[in-house]
Amino acid sequence: MHEALVNARVLTQVAVETGRAVLIEGGRILAVTDEDDPRVASARVHDLQGAWLLPGFIDTQVNGGGGVLFNDEPTVEGIRAIGAAHRRFGTTGFLPTLISDDLSVVARGIAAVDAAIRAQVPGVLGIHIEGPFLSRARKGVHDAARFRGPDDAVVELLSSLGHGTTLVTLAPEVAPPEALSQLASRGVVLSAGHTNATFADIDLALRHGLKGFTHLFNAMSPLTGREPGVVGAALHDPESYCGIIVDGRHVSPVVLQIALRAKRHDRFMLVTDAMPCVGTGEHEFMLQGRRISVRDGYCVDDAGTLAGTALTMAHAVSNAQRLLGLELTEAARMASEYPADFLGLSQELGRIAAGCRASLVACDDNLRVRATWVDGVREDARAD
Ligand SMILES: [Zn+2]
Repeated sequence: MHEALVNARVLTQVAVETGRAVLIEGGRILAVTDEDDPRVASARVHDLQGAWLLPGFIDTQVNGGGGVLFNDEPTVEGIRAIGAAHRRFGTTGFLPTLISDDLSVVARGIAAVDAAIRAQVPGVLGIHIEGPFLSRARKGVHDAARFRGPDDAVVELLSSLGHGTTLVTLAPEVAPPEALSQLASRGVVLSAGHTNATFADIDLALRHGLKGFTHLFNAMSPLTGREPGVVGAALHDPESYCGIIVDGRHVSPVVLQIALRAKRHDRFMLVTDAMPCVGTGEHEFMLQGRRISVRDGYCVDDAGTLAGTALTMAHAVSNAQRLLGLELTEAARMASEYPADFLGLSQELGRIAAGCRASLVACDDNLRVRATWVDGVREDARAD
């Protein structure tokens, strides 16, 4: 039997629409139609009581949640726990993200994601491997002792995921252009991050398959008067995508507003860069043997280096409205449609349109999540 979601403010590809019903069958959106369509009368009807109905949020950078750090638990159950923690905040698609680690951990992470997708763990779309192909000069909280360049064996490993999408963050100055071309030709999505590259380095990488920039402004060479750096290259190139952490601390809201004026909005994606503390209320966790403290939604090590966030996607969307002055509709697209496009999933996800997977979020005006659907399976928000 099909289901009909009615009485919502639906963000479609056209506009925010009311008086529309979203029909779901077999995990897909059957149609977006008028509420008096006869197919609504024959459906199981869910009255959303005036809530927003948005495309489910897609987080391309999530290190952990629910007390689990993916690096520590690169398993199907670890992925399931991370997804469950973030789903409460509207995330219906995500890439579990490994920070720089030994290649044996990368291999385990890839195997776990492949198994999780085959086991239909809700929301897992692939893997994000952030390092260890990074610049020592821009290491952030990553352990530089694990850094290395990608050789042929690494190219094989990084392109070995059988199901789902692989996103790799690397520093182009430590990866030869041929390696980038090889990875891109095998379907790996490449993003520059933790990089001290010059504008020329990035320009070359863009011509060899580089498609995006990881946490724009953080851990990359800045825009200066005579050397545009990675930031300048990211804002100058019209097509590539930029992940942004909108927590009010990783990047000044003024700087993000300038970035939004420099480049099309459909090239920005909200990410959480979230750590295990999301969904737990805990104030401390361990990251590769170091103690990380959680303060007001951000995470720092004992030296004060930023170490991810306690951000959720719902909070990121809310922040994008409050700090960047964006309309909810545009902020929501930065959390759904544009990351889906970046991952090459525009036919499948990030939109409320016939034929797409029924991955949705219903929320109130304050972005409090009331319910999510992942491939048509509904989960109501808990009362707490
Ligand atoms: Zn990072």
